[in-house]
Amino acid sequence: MSTALVWFRRDLRLDDNPAWATATAEHDRVLPLFVLDRLLLDRAGPFRRAAMLGAITSLDAALRELGARLHVINGDPLEVVPAMVAAVGANAVSLNGDVTPYAAHRDREVDDALVVPVHASWGNGVQPPGSILTADGIVPRVFSAFYRRWQQQEFAPEAVPGEAEILTIDGGAKIPETDVHTSAADAEDRLHTFIEDRLADYPTDRDLPAVLGTSRLSIDLKTGTLSAANARRAAIAAGPIGAPFVRQLAWRDWFAHLLYETPTLVDTAQRPEYSAIEWRNDPDEITAWKAGMTGFPIVDAGMRELAATGYMHNRVRMITASFLVKDLLVDWRIGERHFRHLLADGDVPQNVGNWQWVAGTGPDAAPYFRVFNPTLQSAKFDPDGAYLRRWVPELASLDDRAIHEPSKLGPFELVAAGITLDADYPSPIVDHATARVRAIDAYKAARTP
Ligand SMILES: Cc1cc2nc3c(=O)[nH]c(=O)nc-3n(C[C@H](O)[C@H](O)[C@H](O)COP(=O)(O)OP(=O)(O)OC[C@H]3O[C@@H](n4cnc5c(N)ncnc54)[C@H](O)[C@@H]3O)c2cc1C
Repeated sequence: MSTALVWFRRDLRLDDNPAWATATAEHDRVLPLFVLDRLLLDRAGPFRRAAMLGAITSLDAALRELGARLHVINGDPLEVVPAMVAAVGANAVSLNGDVTPYAAHRDREVDDALVVPVHASWGNGVQPPGSILTADGIVPRVFSAFYRRWQQQEFAPEAVPGEAEILTIDGGAKIPETDVHTSAADAEDRLHTFIEDRLADYPTDRDLPAVLGTSRLSIDLKTGTLSAANARRAAIAAGPIGAPFVRQLAWRDWFAHLLYETPTLVDTAQRPEYSAIEWRNDPDEITAWKAGMTGFPIVDAGMRELAATGYMHNRVRMITASFLVKDLLVDWRIGERHFRHLLADGDVPQNVGNWQWVAGTGPDAAPYFRVFNPTLQSAKFDPDGAYLRRWVPELASLDDRAIHEPSKLGPFELVAAGITLDADYPSPIVDHATARVRAIDAYKAARTP
């Protein structure tokens, strides 16, 4: 009789879960385990923590429907996993790999401490990290080249669970309470509603922060309540209209590939010429950015949405990140840590990859001299100011044009709208045109040997 321990991490589902499918097919008995690693819980901000606990609770509920439960233990995986292997007499450990440097290091240490083999699969992306390489054996540095190979490479079939008995043993910890419940069934429902109602308009609506135009599946993909491969299958089944959404899933895989290949990317510029930028890192300006009090309505709306909900629309993530790095000349790592803390979908490969992309320090990023103009972005993507009115209500009385740049209004217009600058809403903390030149100069100086 063979027994496997399935160590769940960011793959909190039973469907299309390669580690679960392998273990339940190849062994007679399996023990589903989750280790509540305090270090990870403490590092997660409130929204990510709630999403994580919600997903664990939901996996437990799915196992209970099968007459079993998720065995949860508080502690350090380095001690817990070998102890549980010994406790159930497991012959193997089955898990899905993780590309973050912390997890990769932890998994190597646990593997070294185990006397049984570890069967590692990949269950959080579509194509496994390390599988898409150029002829020189590196991850393509240009996304379009990566995407071509990504599409041409064979896709794994859906991972179907086997017949193993699911072990239930005494002991284990109680899962902390959370009011967020993100089950795999809910994620599937959200995916199908998105495909039926919004996929056709995704190419245009995905850039409009006031519209629910995107899938809102990033938290499910992060915790693994939804299989990215299943999301791709469902979008492909919808026909050619699925392509733009599938492309975004490939971006996600690209950033995972890059971090898996080069773990130091987590805090070093991928393009070494940009490691010498002289950041200003002004503490008051960083505080104003975090608080949504920069005087740039679109930046403030995004930062307030993030602080209130743990989510920010992708277009606004780009605008707020660009504003911090270029307009305020603040080190991208400061912004990355802030986003990572607050985003419910905060995910190291995606967050680092996108921040490096916005900062121009990553591969295939826009050239350093292209600097987003927050006001023009605002007028283009939130033309009637609906998103601004939702998150910066003190400007709600301004008309659709004026709301993007209240500091340009004359005193009569401000009085008519009942707004006093610096009392009701701050004046801009920088002049964009001047800041743009300053940023370009700083980047240019870093590039000059
Ligand atoms: C500065 C910055 C930081 C970001 N940090 C994160 C992060 O920590 N975690 C995270 O999941 N995404 C991050 N993103 C990417 C993107 O903003 C979110 O994935 C997206 O907004 C989530 O909403 P959605 O699920 O409705 O997206 P949709 O538009 O419906 O996209 C579908 C899925 O594709 C993937 N995806 C979409 N855009 C990107 C992208 N630019 N990069 C990688 N994957 C993408 C996501 O998994 C997303 O759920 C960041 C983007 C920026 C500019």
